[in-house]
Amino acid sequence: MNLIYNFSAGPAMIPETVLCKAKKELKNWKNLGCSVMEISHRTENFCQVVREAEKDLKDLLNISDAYKILFCQGGARGQFSAIPMNLLGKFSKADYINSGYWSNSAFLESQKYCNSENIFIRKVKNQRTYLLKPDQWNINDDSAYVHYCPNETIDGLSLYEEPNFKNKIIIGDFSSFILSRSVDINKYGVIYASAQKNIGPSGITIIIIRKDLIGYASKLCPSILNYHIINQHNSMFNTPPTFSWYLSGLVFKWLKKQGGVKEIEKLNKEKSDMLYQIIDNSNFYINNINKENRSQMNVVFHLFDSKLNSIFLKESENFGLYALKGHFIVGGIRASIYNAMPLEGVKKLAKFMLFFEKKYG
Ligand SMILES: *Cc1c(COP(=O)(O)O)cnc(C)c1O
Repeated sequence: MNLIYNFSAGPAMIPETVLCKAKKELKNWKNLGCSVMEISHRTENFCQVVREAEKDLKDLLNISDAYKILFCQGGARGQFSAIPMNLLGKFSKADYINSGYWSNSAFLESQKYCNSENIFIRKVKNQRTYLLKPDQWNINDDSAYVHYCPNETIDGLSLYEEPNFKNKIIIGDFSSFILSRSVDINKYGVIYASAQKNIGPSGITIIIIRKDLIGYASKLCPSILNYHIINQHNSMFNTPPTFSWYLSGLVFKWLKKQGGVKEIEKLNKEKSDMLYQIIDNSNFYINNINKENRSQMNVVFHLFDSKLNSIFLKESENFGLYALKGHFIVGGIRASIYNAMPLEGVKKLAKFMLFFEKKYG
């Protein structure tokens, strides 16, 4: 039974059954008399973890043999540097689609390595924020790739149309989007994600890359970020974060048991719909994002009277609902409801929101 419901944006909630399994086998993993953290990453026992994690992720996302899954470190921010260093090739330009905080951060980092263009797709119409669809993006003919972020974790903005430009490599920062709904991997050149939102504990970073894009890194690219070197060493060029890898593997198995991405997608819609409906039915809670661009992972909203913010946070915590504080650059409230958040947790938040509105509205 859950003691609390944790709405943290990341590191975020991990499924309870996964934590219980990890606890049970913590001190005596596979009857080895020690934990998974205390053995070499090169042992057959650990290599089995690696093989299964890779296979399960491949199954979950329907990844074809044209792609390679790499596991590395440095988080999504590490990839902000790795992407241009590995993929510019003979080009000097890259397109960065700007939809919010994280895509802008990727753009800022890329400027160290190339002549990148910051293409703004965030607009406001009738006081509602929306994102331009891919066919309205002003991309350049001579750019090496197009980078975008389908879920802006801080802003609560999502883009659900998948970009598909002929002869253009599409790169996606999927950190808070991966495994939340089905996507067509074949449309992408590279998808990357840090683990601490929808996969497992922080520490491991996942890269899904089309095989023909491996091998074009610039000479100055650090070896630990070089896709060719990571690939050559089966994602073990340096010592990997073994515990994070193992636990992520358990989460993949858990997700398969839930019915995979197709089933969790339905649940994610139900969960987010429940909260947005309460917001839209009230003048007390406010969300000014166009319905089509609302995030199903991070529900961001404001209270009509911002003086009530701190009271909302305090009372929600007393009610067993944790970490609802919005990111400081946006303010307000943010409910991060990744795959691991059960429907009951969202129902409890919904109940609290209605109660709070009645009391103070
Ligand atoms: C959390 C997040 C990041 C940053 O991830 P780190 O692992 O801290 O580098 C980048 N992009 C998105 C979309 C995120 O949600």
